[in-house]
Amino acid sequence: MTSFTEELQTGLEAVRQAAKVCRAVQASISTESLEKKDNSPVTVADFASQALICRTLQQSFPDDPVIGEEGAEELRTAEGAEFLNRIVQECSAVGVDASGEEICGWIDRGGLQEHRPRFWTLDPIDGTKGFLRNEQYAIALALVIDGEVQVGILGCPNMPVDASAPHGPRGLLAWAVKGQGSFVQALDVPESAAARILVTTTASSADARFCESVESGHSSHSWSGQIASQLNITREPFRIDSQCKYLAVAMGDADLYLRLPTRKGYQEKIWDHAGGILVVQEAGGTVTDIHGKPPEFQHGATLAKNEGMVVTNGKFHDDVVSAVQDNAPA
Ligand code: AMP
Ligand code: MG
Repeated sequence: MTSFTEELQTGLEAVRQAAKVCRAVQASISTESLEKKDNSPVTVADFASQALICRTLQQSFPDDPVIGEEGAEELRTAEGAEFLNRIVQECSAVGVDASGEEICGWIDRGGLQEHRPRFWTLDPIDGTKGFLRNEQYAIALALVIDGEVQVGILGCPNMPVDASAPHGPRGLLAWAVKGQGSFVQALDVPESAAARILVTTTASSADARFCESVESGHSSHSWSGQIASQLNITREPFRIDSQCKYLAVAMGDADLYLRLPTRKGYQEKIWDHAGGILVVQEAGGTVTDIHGKPPEFQHGATLAKNEGMVVTNGKFHDDVVSAVQDNAPA
């Protein structure tokens, strides 16, 4: 078994640095930009996060390609110049002084779309809507080799460090290496001890706490409502953005995460799942698509051979998949 020590350390360092930029940009989001539904802060943070992570990966693993969410094409245009300037400033604020051209080059390193025997996949800000609302978002990075996720990392800057103190300090960094378990640490304290995390032992689906997307356009709330009713789940779902839902299941804050397609034909993006899936599996949970099929990472940028996702603590997975199928829209 390969230990992937260097890959993990490099990935963690990259995600910590990207999280600093995301937090700095988020702190600058004004009520005015929210009211205007101004997406520019998210754009600046998205690009800066991808640039910094791709830069670090390039230094340590120059031969590894990256399938990332963003590309720098717009930044090279006249309209993109102002954004690029802001990205240059945000990178400089975390100690990376680079030209706009260098930054575009790093971002474009994340532009691979086809499958490779070994690649990284990156969502520089997963849950952009949560980012804008100052709620949950994640920086998600994973290493995939021969279609298997080997390393998964989730930086979750707004997750409470102590779930029982939701208004206390925030920021978690979670990771997993295949075969080695899942761990979590305070995002801001890299020297602190990492704690092993495990899914819940909840045995009956009726007692499940389930989570889903805030956005009903990303996962059907009406379908999940029918499933909950069939499974006799009485607790209200809790809705959070991003792969923080995978972390919630992995840490035992939730027993179940449902991602139910809102329309036929939508292909889930690999960067929305790869990191989170390994963190849940290594914490003891089970992940399949809505048909009970394991996720396949051999098809480029999307999970082209899967639909939706069902994530459980592993105790009642088949019951949930059956209930998903029983209530599938015609
Ligand atoms: P969440 O925060 O869980 O709602 O998911 C955020 C992710 O949903 C984004 O990163 C998008 O890639 C993805 N997304 C966008 N449109 C859809 C859709 N129609 N169905 C499922 N996911 C989507
Ligand atoms: Mg995403």
